[in-house]
Amino acid sequence: ITVRSASLCGQQVTTVDGTSVSVLANIALAVEAQEVFSKGADGVGLFRTEMLFCERSLPPDEEEQYQAYSEVLRAAKGKKITIRTLDIGGDKPCDFLDLPKEDNPFLGYRAVRMYPQFHEIFTTQARALLRSSAVGPLNIMVPMVATLQEIQWLHSQFQHVAHTLQQEDISVGEWHLGIMVEVPSTLYLLEKAAKYLDFVSIGSNDLTQYFLACDRSNPQVRHLYDYRNPTFLALMRDITQRAQAAGLAISLCGEMAADKQMLPLLIGMGLTQLSMAVGAITLCKEALTSLDIAQCQQLLETAIASESGEQVLELVEQFMRAQS
Ligand code: PEP
Ligand code: MG
Repeated sequence: ITVRSASLCGQQVTTVDGTSVSVLANIALAVEAQEVFSKGADGVGLFRTEMLFCERSLPPDEEEQYQAYSEVLRAAKGKKITIRTLDIGGDKPCDFLDLPKEDNPFLGYRAVRMYPQFHEIFTTQARALLRSSAVGPLNIMVPMVATLQEIQWLHSQFQHVAHTLQQEDISVGEWHLGIMVEVPSTLYLLEKAAKYLDFVSIGSNDLTQYFLACDRSNPQVRHLYDYRNPTFLALMRDITQRAQAAGLAISLCGEMAADKQMLPLLIGMGLTQLSMAVGAITLCKEALTSLDIAQCQQLLETAIASESGEQVLELVEQFMRAQS
């Protein structure tokens, strides 16, 4: 394994049928970037920026954010980098905003929903992100989007900020705008959204919670919180197909991507960009080299036609045994 892992490190892997798959890393701090590249990541599919903001009495200013984002882009040396705008609210508290307590925080005032009110915080982050795109190509991703109006608003805001920077003679490089697909309504927005966005990324952690109506942090409903549920797999397949048909690049950046047993199903959906915790990258690359897309598609359809998450797991285990 060591020899093979070493040879896979630092290069994109292909499945048996020759489809190339990017295996990307999720990070939460800029300093992690060096490490994930040395451990074989083909890029960063999700840089959660909350850590930069939390546990402090004032938000980071534009310069501090610019330094953090640039550090990641420099380490990337042109590899794909996706940085997510602030995702506070829900399970992610924030000291300097002093937000009122809500009965249903996961269904409440969270992420993109807060940007119009806290406009300066949003604009400062947008400026820092766009400035850092001069260091290397950057994907800017927005969490918790639920409506087309939010997408239109984001598009015009980023255009406006980019224009302002240009007027100030501050250089802006190549950047792309995308959203997380974590609220089920976005499935039916993909065609319309393609006019404003370049990419989407499935946030399976929240998508599971919102699709199956079960709080991701409540142990009493943990049995329902299951991304192996056949209905959830059907949802993900449909999202992937519709995004591709609309010309949007699509990836997955929820914890599901790091679950080795899910890998054949994800490949069967047509996903070719998977972002995960750095510790899962090597095994994922190993496993990908023995998968065949046509067989994975067949497995996925059988899994979707089955009756439960447990059955899905049995089917996957059978599939894997037949391969080894
Ligand atoms: C997700 O919801 O799947 C996701 C990647 O975002 P977070 O876990 O940070 O909410
Ligand atoms: Mg999320």
